Amino acid sequence: MQVIIDFDGTLTSEETQASTLAEMSISSLASDVLQVPRDRLVREYAETRARLLAAPHRYSWEVNGLRASYCNEGAFILNTTTLQTLLRENQDYADAVARAFPNAEYDPIVDCTNALFHRNTALIGPAFRPQAATLLNALLHHPTRCPVVLTNSLGDKVTRLLSTLPLDAPVQVLGDTRQYEMAPNWTQTWQHPTLGAIQIWPVSRRYSVDLRRPDYYRALQTAAQRDPHRVVVADTFSLPGALPLMMGIPFCLLRTPYTPRWCARAVRRHPHGRVLNSLSDLLPTLEELEPRDA
Ligand SMILES: [Mg+2]
Repeated sequence: MQVIIDFDGTLTSEETQASTLAEMSISSLASDVLQVPRDRLVREYAETRARLLAAPHRYSWEVNGLRASYCNEGAFILNTTTLQTLLRENQDYADAVARAFPNAEYDPIVDCTNALFHRNTALIGPAFRPQAATLLNALLHHPTRCPVVLTNSLGDKVTRLLSTLPLDAPVQVLGDTRQYEMAPNWTQTWQHPTLGAIQIWPVSRRYSVDLRRPDYYRALQTAAQRDPHRVVVADTFSLPGALPLMMGIPFCLLRTPYTPRWCARAVRRHPHGRVLNSLSDLLPTLEELEPRDA
């Protein structure tokens, strides 16, 4: 069984790094992109962040016009969505970002926040959760389980960060999975037990998750070529978790200080979903999920 474990927030404690990451992003934005006083941007960031947290169902990380994640599902996601909202709402800022990112792959603001994230997470280095090395070593030594680290970052950055852990063997990295790559024209549908064929999963009255993520789908299918038995483990729901569940792949949500209640509820209610209160809960949970013939 491949145990596909998300990197940021799952093996690492995002909650301890998010404010440093925000400060670094604000500094680069103020001086390199917007040319405005840093203090002003710090104040605007705090105001925007508070507004998002007061009504998180109204604010999202959007890519190609679709919601990739609600704003508060992860500590780094909240950073990214706060910056995107702040930049979109101020025309002068949006124009400055468009000048700085003239050949945007998505739109200039998404490219800008992606660039800030990748550059600054590489600089701050990881803050691994205390159980990370023990867990990975236990999986590396297990006869039928193989750990694979999942990330939207480039694989070589994460491989380098993992090399700072005392691991007994190298761990495979499934990098650049682009869980946020939303494709409005992708026609793939998913069978919901009561709703039939869906592309958007309504998980509660207020919250729904868009499943049109072809790049992530392909990454999970590529992993299946090595071993069709897979489980995905992550600290957030919309980006890494909803699609595996709809594909019939078990998903374990690591509950963190920032996990919204609706995410844990959605996972708990799904027959293939499990909620972990700590990384140490993963090994006993895998005992339940492992195919009997493995
Ligand atoms: Mg994560």
